[in-house]
Amino acid sequence: MVDSPTSAKSRPLDGKWRGLDRPSKSRSPRILYNPAVDVGMDRVLVTGGAGFIGSNLCERLISEGHTVYCWDNMETGSVRNLSAIISSPRFELVRHDIIAPKDVAVDRIYNLACPASPVQYQKDPVHTIMTSTVGVMNMLDLAERYGATLLQASTSEIYGDPLVHPQREDYWGHVNPIGPRACYDESKRLAETLLVAHEGQRNAKVRIARIFNTYGPHMQPEDGRVVSNFIVRALRGEDIAIYGDGSQTRSFCYVDDMVDGLVRLMCSNLRGPVNLGNPVETTVRELADIINGMAGGRSRIAHRPLPPDDPCRRNPDITLARQRLGWEPRVQLDEGLGKTMKYFRDVVDE
Ligand code: NAD
Ligand code: UDP
Repeated sequence: MVDSPTSAKSRPLDGKWRGLDRPSKSRSPRILYNPAVDVGMDRVLVTGGAGFIGSNLCERLISEGHTVYCWDNMETGSVRNLSAIISSPRFELVRHDIIAPKDVAVDRIYNLACPASPVQYQKDPVHTIMTSTVGVMNMLDLAERYGATLLQASTSEIYGDPLVHPQREDYWGHVNPIGPRACYDESKRLAETLLVAHEGQRNAKVRIARIFNTYGPHMQPEDGRVVSNFIVRALRGEDIAIYGDGSQTRSFCYVDDMVDGLVRLMCSNLRGPVNLGNPVETTVRELADIINGMAGGRSRIAHRPLPPDDPCRRNPDITLARQRLGWEPRVQLDEGLGKTMKYFRDVVDE
């Protein structure tokens, strides 16, 4: 059955290098992603797989022939997100909180468990901290037991309210350690530290993805994030609430692009951290106007106070991902918002 402790077989990185440079014999090949590694019957664990990015990732992995185990405590996830794959014989959903140890023999682990919306992760800050510390330790133990590769979903919040633009991976960040966002930011920072320490001390195989704002189908309508909030309110013709004056920026990446970046990172031998995000910067005010226009322009724009420590600017430098993973976002903001709005129309109608 699923939890048998048989050892997992790793797939060697020796397949075809389609459309990308074959790695040279030198110590630092320019592009390290090997697409041939995507295809196969590897056993993959996705924690947080019932959430927004996780469920989109599970769909892709199932479509590629992998066996996928999804562990989720269902804090912000939903079974609805998994409706396309829940009946697949190669998919298993287990309600499990990663702060408790659990065993399954796998080749790869995508650790996505953790609420991503500020509203959600601030509801139970201590649990958020436990998830990205104790939970990450459990995932490292599991990865070590089976020789699996562990990819950690890190975040642009590593940079806090950054003083450097755009943000490169070598920027150390500007984080308030005791502010309302600290439970998320600081535990995600410690998670990176844990991965790097395990790699150095125990030869763990780790990957660190610094994910910037991502949007698309399977976001929860009421989870507090800006894209889902704005779209749902615009579709209902309700006031769109901009926090502050709306001059703060984010850079929005469509979820299919993000999933592709995560898979590429997993299938590479780049440890990271590596930024994954769309480098096109948009103000919150512009986003509100675009979404309101697409939905028919029935909403009024209202202003609410800016939450403490809300970052003023956020924009990824994705040079590293471009060079080493051959990755960059393909979906433009209007195209992605159109697809997301179509998804939310169905959800709102329901
Ligand atoms: P999400 O809230 O939609 O999904 C998170 C999933 O993890 C949910 O299904 C939730 O129930 C589950 N979960 C939370 N704590 C858990 C625990 N202790 N044990 C088991 N399951 C748990 O968030 P998302 O947007 O899909 O984000 C996925 C990952 O990517 C998160 O780790 C997040 O920090 C990271 N990330 C996301 C974004 C983004 O813009 N979406 C940006 C930066 C980083
Ligand atoms: N925001 C807003 N209205 C909302 C939700 C969010 O103006 O209904 C703002 C929020 O203050 C922030 C930006 O939009 O400046 C992005 O917020 P989100 O919670 O999506 O992500 P994060 O702040 O973590 O990047």
